[in-house]
Amino acid sequence: MTVQPNSVEARDQAYQLHSYTNARALERDGALVIDRGEGVYVYDNNGKRYIEAMSGLWSVAVGFGEQRLVDAAVRQMSILPYYHTFTGRTHGPSVDLAAKLIQMAPVPMSKVYFTNSGSEANDTAMKIVWYRSNALGKPEKKKIISRVKGYHGVTIASASLTGLPNNHRSFDLPLSNVLHTTCPHYRVFAQEGETEEDFVARCARDLEDLILKEGPETVAAFIGEPVMGAGGVIVPPAGYWNAIQAVLRKYDILLIADEVICGFGRTGEMFGTTTFGLQPDIITVSKQLSSSYQPISALLINERVYAPLADESAKIGTFGHGFTASGHPVAAAVALENLAIIEERDLVGNVRELSSLFIKRLKALEAHPLAVEARGVGLIGALELHPRDGFTAGQLGPKFAALMLDKGVIGRAIGDSIALCPPLIVDEQQINTIFDTFEASLDAFA
Ligand code: PLP
Repeated sequence: MTVQPNSVEARDQAYQLHSYTNARALERDGALVIDRGEGVYVYDNNGKRYIEAMSGLWSVAVGFGEQRLVDAAVRQMSILPYYHTFTGRTHGPSVDLAAKLIQMAPVPMSKVYFTNSGSEANDTAMKIVWYRSNALGKPEKKKIISRVKGYHGVTIASASLTGLPNNHRSFDLPLSNVLHTTCPHYRVFAQEGETEEDFVARCARDLEDLILKEGPETVAAFIGEPVMGAGGVIVPPAGYWNAIQAVLRKYDILLIADEVICGFGRTGEMFGTTTFGLQPDIITVSKQLSSSYQPISALLINERVYAPLADESAKIGTFGHGFTASGHPVAAAVALENLAIIEERDLVGNVRELSSLFIKRLKALEAHPLAVEARGVGLIGALELHPRDGFTAGQLGPKFAALMLDKGVIGRAIGDSIALCPPLIVDEQQINTIFDTFEASLDAFA
């Protein structure tokens, strides 16, 4: 791409450091400028239209340009554009949203705590787990177990929970009290001759071995996404979560379900927790909570977590945690309206209805010589490609995603996997267009 002097692209190169970007490559190539969005589509600054088959970053559930969310934001801006929830203050939108989340929760939950991003929610979850252990007089119970390829964010704590090398490399992470256990990706991590059932049993055994090696009295919590997203859309084998939870129960270890991607319909139920039979003590949500029209995230905590925390706050005199924008009234108002749309339009029903087509077309791609494996559930999926002549591992994915982009579909390369996660408002024809384009791109590469 030739970057014109003084263009948006040129000023972007001059002034902005981008997330998850090779900074030197961007200086050379420039960024893609997205100007506006409507429904499942976004438009670049040349007017070219793309199907946003990743919902931005797994988040724009109700699609782009949803006027009801705009109106909710404007309304709240004019009534009370900002207030906080520190030191016993509150406001209507945060109360209403907390009540709504407790009512929607897939397992009984006691309280909601607001944060502003998925990373902050998981960072806060880790702090709450530590605080609780201290409250219970178990100061040694502080280690958190996560999984290889899990993704939980990028703050110092949440990046430590993340089990991906790029989030650790050159950042001096992970923190030493975060441990990573086996990733439930059967094709990649199964040992020779292991059936799926054997593999599940070994994942549970690996977890138990790790707990015993560290000392069960030192392990406070386990965190996992019901379906791993940014690690490559890894759907756990049947029985995986049951086996893991049996180990956690045995050693009195809390379960944190990171529903930042799965939450609010993505897997065909309102929560991934329901799809996969989890019994979490803490649930973290963000993204589809507000369709990312406003930054907001939340933790739902059960009584087992809340009661000791409340006691400790009484002992110390305060729960010394909180962000200026926690429970921001505009973000909360937008989230409430977004959840109302998800319910009124039965978008979870839409996911269930369209999932069979989505999965059928995804699985059909597996037959292509360039494909290794198709993985998916609900309306989230990925096709893993086989690195071939001239490409080393991890190079083909981005090239392939660039070709799809050229053809008007935005997917996301995760190594050599191409992830798809369309808005929940997507229709049958749009799903077919996404996969027709995927097929045409595979043929172009073969
Ligand atoms: N947890 C999961 C499962 C995620 O997918 C993400 C982001 O993609 C995060 C946490 C971090 O969220 P954020 O980027 O809002 O900090």
